[in-house]
Amino acid sequence: MAMFDTRPARPHVFIFSLGSFKVATLLDAVDVRDNLASALAPGHSPTAVHELAASNFIDRDRYEHCFIPTLIDTGSEKILFDTGCGDEDSSLLECLQDLGLGPGDIDVVIITHGHPDHIGGLVKNGEPVFRRARYVFGAAEFSFWTGGNAVREARLANRDLFRRICSSLTDQVTFIAPGDQVVPGITAIDAAGHSPGLLAFLVESDGQQLLIWSDAFLHYVVSIQRPEWRADLDDDKEQAVETRKRLLKMAAEQRLLIAGHHMPFPGLGYIEPVNGSFRWLPVSYQLNV
Ligand SMILES: [Zn+2]
Repeated sequence: MAMFDTRPARPHVFIFSLGSFKVATLLDAVDVRDNLASALAPGHSPTAVHELAASNFIDRDRYEHCFIPTLIDTGSEKILFDTGCGDEDSSLLECLQDLGLGPGDIDVVIITHGHPDHIGGLVKNGEPVFRRARYVFGAAEFSFWTGGNAVREARLANRDLFRRICSSLTDQVTFIAPGDQVVPGITAIDAAGHSPGLLAFLVESDGQQLLIWSDAFLHYVVSIQRPEWRADLDDDKEQAVETRKRLLKMAAEQRLLIAGHHMPFPGLGYIEPVNGSFRWLPVSYQLNV
């Protein structure tokens, strides 16, 4: 008899209520990557990274990188935050199907920033996937990529991808800035650093709150316990550090529920202050009772 499949098995959709909103986190894809130290803390001693990994019971080199867009149903609109990678491994549309939804059911697509794993699912074979949706982009982020002059070498292919995918959508785009309300209860927050115009979002319904911090944090141990370590993937590394410190303080003080695009699935947790730093506390049953 064959043994059962030994790949990590997990659900791809997690659903909960936030006040009168319904929220779903959707596992678009999972990468297993090497070189935790050089990706998350280049310029720091690998030994320091290895010790941090060991004290958190994770492998010192290999790490899991989840891709988790968030869907919010406000009762009047279905709002998708980011569209996943959009490649052959991408399962965002299957996740929507599990909820009984098709891409035509999405009313608003909010793009937190222009990196491939967030914009990749916007088009397929040159056609918009979410054909009824209006789009929301940060104005600063959109003009950074379309202007394209200040893009660093490592992101030139990203710039070309952004122009190819997003330029044709301009007519349906609402441009926003930090502090703007997208719809009642959903407000943009400055999270620049990882990308020049990265936006986080504070979601509020009937007194309950959720902070969608997108890519301000890339790893649930390194980025949170050592927010001052500069990640290779951050475009403005110094600004990314400042943003992480500000959001950690806010999340801890306000005891916010967090949805993190690259946190371990379901990507939901809280920030606990510990010994002058912070720790990611994943959700257990808080959202079920
Ligand atoms: Zn990302």
